[in-house]
Amino acid sequence: MNSERKDSQIESSTDTAVGGEVLRVENLRKWYPLRKGFMETLLSKVEASVKAVDLVSFSLGKGEIFALAGESGSGKTTLGKLVLRLVEPTSGKIFFQGKDITELSQRELKPLRREMQIIFQDPFESLNPRMIIKEIIAEPLRVQHLAKTEEEVEERVKQVLTEVEVVPPEEFLYRFPHELSGGQRQRVAVARAFILNPSFVVADEPVSMLDVSIRAEIVNLMVDMVRKHSASIIFISHDLALAKHIADRIAIMYLGKVMELSTSENVVDLPLHPYTQALIAAVPIPDPESKRTKDVISGEIPSPVNPPSGCRFRTRCPYAHERCSTEEPPLVEVEKGHFVACHLYT
Ligand code: SF4
Repeated sequence: MNSERKDSQIESSTDTAVGGEVLRVENLRKWYPLRKGFMETLLSKVEASVKAVDLVSFSLGKGEIFALAGESGSGKTTLGKLVLRLVEPTSGKIFFQGKDITELSQRELKPLRREMQIIFQDPFESLNPRMIIKEIIAEPLRVQHLAKTEEEVEERVKQVLTEVEVVPPEEFLYRFPHELSGGQRQRVAVARAFILNPSFVVADEPVSMLDVSIRAEIVNLMVDMVRKHSASIIFISHDLALAKHIADRIAIMYLGKVMELSTSENVVDLPLHPYTQALIAAVPIPDPESKRTKDVISGEIPSPVNPPSGCRFRTRCPYAHERCSTEEPPLVEVEKGHFVACHLYT
């Protein structure tokens, strides 16, 4: 991190990605304009917008598991879609494997699509109910024209089904999603994401809709697939214990901004930002004597249409002081590889 960036009032890029860089985003922003009625348009000069992601920067290393965590409404999912260009950024830059892909047309993006995949939260909705498993998994192969014959398609589908332990694969090829359990469906979604051997995957809360009893095995499967395919993954989760278990680094988001970013151990065991500290304190632990409660963060997350001035967390922060309402804290490196956006450290 150079000092020029460190002093900047805009979010700084974090260059501690492990194993070389696969993805880098710089000052990424996604504002959704709000629809207004006729009278509102006449009366208000300022265009209101939902500030879903606001000046976010980070990089992702080759083979890295990077978790995005925070409450719902923090902008995690929007950020995951932005980096894949599934939604268009309002401003900022996205570099994939060193190439600026921010302005590429969908046609220009097509060859890169095989390298970038997404696994959605809900396997009940993300798999087309009218398609058989073979076609669901084979679709990316067909779109990219990467299999010459029908035999090759079937062989590759069977191979990836075996990898995700949906076995014997022959028994599942001609079934529909509703004939599978929730866990099997998410395994199929993982198979579909990995059939093209991508170098980068976004997994958006991939186990939150599954029964608690099978979450660990699906998470472990994903980690195995990431390692086996030497891929990098952005793992979106509100579950900090899970994020710590699997991720190399964690970024904590609040109201569209990164509040803290560091190694999983730093973020979970030595959190510096008051928001992260509150999130950690709210994680339930199985000790009836524990003082940890779920009510550690008081109040509701404010509206992303009109976020608080200065620090966005100030309306819920026990350490808020005058400066917090007037000055937005930049994300700065307070220890090596540990970035925090809070005036307590500047
Ligand atoms: Fe709290 Fe102020 Fe730090 Fe924001 S900048 S987290 S309000 S102390």
